[in-house]
Order: sequence, then C-alpha cells, then structure tokens
Amino acid sequence: MFHPDPMGTGTLHIDLTALVDNWRALDRQSATDTGAVVKADGYGLGAGRVSKALAEAGVRTFFVATAEEATALRASLGPDPVIYVFSGHMDGETQTLSDLGAVPLLNSPEQVARHQSQLPDHPFGLQLDTGMNRLGIEASDWSPAMSQDATLVMSHLACADEPDHPANAAQLKAFLDMTAGILAPRSLAATGGILLGPEYHFDMTRPGVGLYGGLPFAGAKPVVGLDLPVIQTRTVDPGEAVGYAQSYVADSKRVIATVSGGYADGLIRAMSSTATLYAGETPCPLVGRVSMDLITVDVTHLDDVPTHLSILGPQQSVDQLADAAGTIGYEILTSLGHRYTRSYA
Ligand SMILES: *Cc1c(COP(=O)(O)O)cnc(C)c1O
Repeated sequence: MFHPDPMGTGTLHIDLTALVDNWRALDRQSATDTGAVVKADGYGLGAGRVSKALAEAGVRTFFVATAEEATALRASLGPDPVIYVFSGHMDGETQTLSDLGAVPLLNSPEQVARHQSQLPDHPFGLQLDTGMNRLGIEASDWSPAMSQDATLVMSHLACADEPDHPANAAQLKAFLDMTAGILAPRSLAATGGILLGPEYHFDMTRPGVGLYGGLPFAGAKPVVGLDLPVIQTRTVDPGEAVGYAQSYVADSKRVIATVSGGYADGLIRAMSSTATLYAGETPCPLVGRVSMDLITVDVTHLDDVPTHLSILGPQQSVDQLADAAGTIGYEILTSLGHRYTRSYA
C-alpha cells in the first residue's frame, strides 16, 4: 500500500476544542443568538471540519461569502442549519441557492428584484450599508417595508476593532435609524462588535476571526499550531550569504537550518528577515528571503537542532506572526497553504 510520506511538509494542528470554546466564550458575551462565520474555507482551517464541530456545539446559523462556499458547507452540515451568503443573490446563482437552501443576504435593489422574480418563495435576508460603503443597500434605496419577509436584516461595522473609533457609534445610529420599527431579526456585530457591548448585539451576532483564535478577541484560545520540518542544517562562514538575492550575509560563523515551508504555503515574503520561529521556548530568527518552498533560520544558539521548528503555537499567535510581517491575523490564517498535513484535535 502506498503511504504518502508526510515528513517533508509542515503539520498544521487545528484544535477544534479550542475553537468551540472560543465560540462559547463569544456566545456568553451576548444574550442573543450567536452564529458562526466560516467563509474562506473556515478562515483557512477547513470549513467542513470547523462547521461540523460548531454544529455539534449547538451553532444553528452559519455565514459564508459566496454561494459556491455554501456547497461544501451544506454537504458537511446536512439540511438543517441555516446558511447565509454575504454576497447575496448573484446572477446565475439562483439554482445553487435553491438547491442548497442557502439564504442570500440581498445587497442592492437589483438583487432584491432578482430574488423576487426568480425565487419568490425562497427565504432571504438583507444587508444594509451603514457607512462602510462595501456591501449593502444604501439608505436612499431603502424602505423598512422591504424587510417584510426577511429572516435577517444586517449591517457590518468598519472599525469595530477600535472600540473608541467614532464610526462605531455612527454606524450603530444609522442601523437603528434604518431599522426602526421593523419586525425582522437584526444583526450588526462580528467579533469586534460583540466586544463593543450589548447595544451592538441585536438578535444575532456573527463572529468569525475570534473563533479561530484571532484579534480583536484578546481572550481567545489559540486554535492553530504550525510545525515545520528542518530539512538540512549547515554552517555558514563569516561573509557567506544565504538564499535569494543574498540578502542575509553572516557576520560571524552561523548555523542555518533550511526549513520546509515558503510563500506557496502562506509564509508570505514580507516575513523575510523579520519573522521568528521557535525551538520549544527558544526564538530562532528567520534570516534572508522567504522562498516558494523554503525558509532559512538561524539556529546557532541551539544545543540541538530539533526535527521541527514551530512558527505558530503557544509561543507565537497568528497576530504576533502577522505583526512581524506587517499584516493581520486574518491574512495569516486564510493564506495557510494546502501542502500541510492537517491534524485536527
Ligand atoms: C467576515 C465577516 C464577518 C466576521 O468578521 P470577523 O471580524 O472575522 O468576526 C461578519 N460579517 C461580515 C459581513 C463579514 O464579512
């Protein structure tokens, strides 16, 4: 029998228990229903496994970005959970939405008209623009009567990760104004909005990143670990250069480990010369350029070079790694590559 040899690729550890704990912790922050956002393949961690674990913990409402994403989700969740689609009812997606029983969040008068004419008896929600100017029906196109048969009326906050940002209160006021008196359930808060407090919670919250261990949910349990195998070590003499463009030049005798994992695996090039890997508790700097499949790490100070170095785990969260690369935890998570061996616990 053929056994693929996993030793040459990194192992992505995904802690579904921690994920469920994070959902419960966010659920406890509000008195209202708590859904789960599993777009982008469950923020890169596998929408099937993630949503199944959440459904077993009691989540009844899921959100994805596109109808296409709802396909995989329905297959793993079965017929009962509600699946909302943020991009709404796009031309050509009528059959998919209908087959999957997925509920579009209609974003414009055009989408409302399309839905009414093509799927008149199929449930729908509405997304309102309250100031982010990305998705949603504008105040000038909106009348509360449009919400008559909607199962959810939602909007999205642009600055919820900054609690003191004046846009939060402004968007809250706009949402209250647009939805005053309507009977449909309302939703405004993603992870950041949940943490802003009860006036942002309405009838349903929609956490995403906090479930996966990311900021702005500072109390999140870490969900992801990533261990990368050391393929080779070598001693580099003073004046010798390492990797593409020879951007790292040893100023003294160094021991350099070549580690499996590169920008094709989501270790973005902006991590070059700046990220840190860990041998247990001991930090080891990434030196030189990140290449497609490999990175190089200074391990001179280690007594023993381990078989693997960790780049995500107890020593380093997705947000700490993101900081080193000048990005956000969301991008680190959703860039995690497809070559890793995925280990769910
Ligand atoms: C992505 C997204 C969410 C989840 O946001 P997080 O910040 O990851 O919690 C909720 N609502 C909408 C409309 C989104 O696009």
